[in-house]
Amino acid sequence: MSAQTQVSADERAVLDAVPGGSLVGDDWRDAGADLDVEDPSTGSTLRSVADAGPDDAMAALDAAAAAQAEWAATDTRTRSDILRATYDAILAAKDELALLITLEMGKPLTESVAEVTYGADFFRWFSEQAAHVGGTYRPAPTGGSRLLTMRQPVGPTLLITPWNFPLAMATRKVGAALAAGCTVVFKPAEQTPLTALVLGRLLRAAGLPAGVANVVVGSDAPSLIRPLMADPRLRKISFTGSTAVGSTLLGQAAQNILRSSMELGGNAPFLVFDDADVEAAVDGAMVAKMRNGGESCVAANRFLVQAGIAAEFTAGLTEQMRARVLGRGTDPDVTLGPLIDAAGRDKALALLGDAVDRGAEVVTGGGVPDRPGWFLEATVLTGVPADARITGEEVFGPVAPVTTFTDEDEAVRLANDTEFGLVGYAYTRDVGRALRIAERLETGMVGLNQGLVSNAAAPFGGVKQSGLGREGGDEGIAEYQNVKYVGLPLD
Ligand code: NAP
Repeated sequence: MSAQTQVSADERAVLDAVPGGSLVGDDWRDAGADLDVEDPSTGSTLRSVADAGPDDAMAALDAAAAAQAEWAATDTRTRSDILRATYDAILAAKDELALLITLEMGKPLTESVAEVTYGADFFRWFSEQAAHVGGTYRPAPTGGSRLLTMRQPVGPTLLITPWNFPLAMATRKVGAALAAGCTVVFKPAEQTPLTALVLGRLLRAAGLPAGVANVVVGSDAPSLIRPLMADPRLRKISFTGSTAVGSTLLGQAAQNILRSSMELGGNAPFLVFDDADVEAAVDGAMVAKMRNGGESCVAANRFLVQAGIAAEFTAGLTEQMRARVLGRGTDPDVTLGPLIDAAGRDKALALLGDAVDRGAEVVTGGGVPDRPGWFLEATVLTGVPADARITGEEVFGPVAPVTTFTDEDEAVRLANDTEFGLVGYAYTRDVGRALRIAERLETGMVGLNQGLVSNAAAPFGGVKQSGLGREGGDEGIAEYQNVKYVGLPLD
């Protein structure tokens, strides 16, 4: 456990440089400072910003709607250049952004630096995509006419993100929307508005015209969002967050038949077969479980291990989990930060306690350190029964439940026994088995012999209650485009 530190002079300087409130058009709405941003490693306030209300949100939609036609008409090379300049600007601000991410979200600084690189990459990727918006031309099979298609921006779009990747969850939406020619109203999570406000500043500095991207930071999400969803000028919503809120928003989207992209909750299975390279599987398990302290939608939520190697795998995993150093993410020795808030830790503890009550064994961890902040020790559980809550709900924290299986069919049955379907992982040296598993998992993504699937060039997204649509890859920009078909007779 590293010693608790206070906000340093360098940290204060970075915090004070963050804009003081929402970006609406060309205007920073920074009057008042009612939204307190907390340091989850201490529970104390880092910085306060203006808490936006429904009028600010509506003004942001006004600005986005006013800027839409001109942005859609802007040539794609110019859009591409602005996105590329934003990529460069994010990387130039890497230290500032990484520190803000660590301060407001809690993850260790090295992980925040990795998030900045990953987050910036969406702007590089979509700057490349922006200049390649294509169409099709084909003869009608019956002859006589030609069928043309073109891709046009959907229109003003609402983007809502969670707190767990304050930059990357934003850039994979904003980059795609702007590349497609959509203007946006972006609402980040109330816990992590600071990174979002700096992204707004960087976009403007990179040459994005006023009103094309608006950032609304506020604490009362339903009152900010509901009027926007009811406004016919809004043409699309892209949401990342919990399945419960996603379902509510889909209900609201139905009123105006809004295009909807939903990146929702997960319950990722991590399968390890007897023939796996166990050392590699343990390393992959640590990435899949402990990246972001387990607070990730693609975090491995259930380890399903074939009986023959379960003891060896669990011993390796336990050794690495025990080695995690808890503390404030700014300390270079720290490898596990706090959870985001009291509610997040309470939920993880409730799932852990439920598993233990039902007979699971705590191999390591399970404790809450005696210090301020929302810490929970890296924990390994074995003998977790199938009816434990943790097998069906996201723990969203550093808790790794290990269960055994006997054969491939049982592994697939257990893996798919969930309403979620975001990602699954499998470790095996048998190529045929790897492909069989990849085909049989009911998920939008599969990591084979790797514990990390996130990549700006890959289509990220889920099936079942994990969501609709894809972010990144070639598919990411298509979420923000309408396909228009034009029929043309030759005679
Ligand atoms: P959340 O409670 O659903 O909040 C996400 C966002 O929605 C926040 O900006 C929140 O604003 C806003 N929000 C909450 N209630 C709303 C409402 N009634 N109307 C409109 N907006 C509303 O999710 P979270 O707890 O922050 O994030 C964790 C969840 O996100 C997990 O389930 C995780 O799996 C999922 N997630 C999914 C992906 C993916 O790509 N599939 C990626 C990351 C996270 P406030 O902050 O103001 O409440």
